Amino acid sequence: MTTSAAAARPAAVPRAGRGSGARARLDAGVRLAALAGLWASLLLVTYWWASGGGVQDLSGWAAGLTSAGRLTGLLAADLLLVQVLLMARVPVLEHAFGQDRLARIHRLTGFSSFSLMMTHIGLITWGYAAGELGRTPATLWDLTVDYPGMLLAAAGTGCLVLVVVTSVRAARRRLRYESWHLLHLYAYLGAGLALPHQLWTGQDFLASPARTVFWWGLWLAAVGAVLGWRVALPAWRSVRAGLRVTSVVAEDDGVVSVHLAGRRDGRFRVEAGQFCTFRFLDGPGWTRAHPYSLSAAPDGRALRITAKVVGDGSAALGALRPGTRVLIEGPYGRLSARARTRARVALIGAGVGITPLRALAEALDYAPGDAVLLHRYTGTPLFAAELNALAAERGLQVLWLPGHRREPGSWLGDGIGPADDLAALTSWVPDIADRDVYVCGPEPWADDVRRTTQAAGLPADQFHVESFGW
Ligand SMILES: Cc1cc2nc3c(=O)[nH]c(=O)nc-3n(C[C@H](O)[C@H](O)[C@H](O)COP(=O)(O)OP(=O)(O)OC[C@H]3O[C@@H](n4cnc5c(N)ncnc54)[C@H](O)[C@@H]3O)c2cc1C
Repeated sequence: MTTSAAAARPAAVPRAGRGSGARARLDAGVRLAALAGLWASLLLVTYWWASGGGVQDLSGWAAGLTSAGRLTGLLAADLLLVQVLLMARVPVLEHAFGQDRLARIHRLTGFSSFSLMMTHIGLITWGYAAGELGRTPATLWDLTVDYPGMLLAAAGTGCLVLVVVTSVRAARRRLRYESWHLLHLYAYLGAGLALPHQLWTGQDFLASPARTVFWWGLWLAAVGAVLGWRVALPAWRSVRAGLRVTSVVAEDDGVVSVHLAGRRDGRFRVEAGQFCTFRFLDGPGWTRAHPYSLSAAPDGRALRITAKVVGDGSAALGALRPGTRVLIEGPYGRLSARARTRARVALIGAGVGITPLRALAEALDYAPGDAVLLHRYTGTPLFAAELNALAAERGLQVLWLPGHRREPGSWLGDGIGPADDLAALTSWVPDIADRDVYVCGPEPWADDVRRTTQAAGLPADQFHVESFGW
């Protein structure tokens, strides 16, 4: 059944929960373990610092500054490596957190690690200057020039400063995505250049076999994860899948769909709702990879992505020729059946954010009336015919929400009428709190949807979101 929002009827009467939820429970366990691991590593490092006399040293002024500087340096190094691991596309973390949440944690640990690192430099230098502030510049110079590994560490710090400054929101908005991303890669260089001084001058790294194993283990895990999951695995998957463009279809309103197919024996495993990063080998633009969600359920060989033209990369999609080879990274994201915990689902999308939800509406397991899709759009709704077909064939309930956002704080379109967001949502989907809610659209819009669903009683772990980063 498809219907306009104004005429929407309540969803079917809830039936007993049917979602397996096993993968969702596993992911929740991984999230807990990862969080516990992070805190355990910070506590362990602090314990080693304390057991090495760190606390006693605090009683003297200069020794105290140096000791506090050592602790902040150790915590900074730990968090630096943790954030490299977080963004290394480690599958178990990707599945458990999803990229949105990983990116947010990465940002938090990144800024924390950077603040600790700057504090470390300041305190250590001040301590080495016998606690006399006026002597710190000269001491900083001496330390940098005379101590082993410190020139490299200074270069590494420069790289990290560059990365952090360009990641501050105001600066980031001014940069092209590609420029920002390229600069961001300097973080790896920064982290790598800091290693030698930690080994040569950092007594905490070498004071016991346990510490040496811990630090080397962490460094090797970070390097191995990046090389394995960011470089080797995508290369291997791309070669094995052998994806090529099969056709390009113009949809409405500057939107284009690209159909891809892999080798018969390619076995590319991806789920509806996930996304991959694509490089089309059609000329110089191939160096820039772009993430796109699947807009149709994959069948093991054929994929479809659907993109709104917003810049050079998306504009080039319309000119792709059949046969063009495609490299992929991924699949990523947990906006898929993996996150499912309930029998009934609500899919809520805005604009081209409908793409992963269109794939989910096709692929998810649900009984007629158990899935509702709310599509806010301006102009012509994307995939209207396909959604109508899914409504007829599978009993998907579709609510069209036309118009621009009514006002800041409302995620509904101005074609809806005066009812407030919560009243409208609970009248259309009265059992919203007992559903898994999958959301895709611009971040501020998705935040408004989150607030409304929370107000309707939806538990946080039933809200699954992917934003395209606008
Ligand atoms: C997880 C995810 C899934 C996405 N799925 C879809 C989809 O199904 N359909 C769709 O139309 N769009 C999707 N996008 C957005 C799409 O990736 C960007 O619109 C596209 O990369 C823009 O590139 P451009 O060269 O055309 O424009 P540009 O002018 O280069 O970029 C416009 C904006 O797009 C974003 N962007 C650009 N390149 C990247 C990149 N490599 N990684 C992340 N963000 C980037 C930046 O916010 C940038 O400001 C998705 C984004 C993400 C993060």
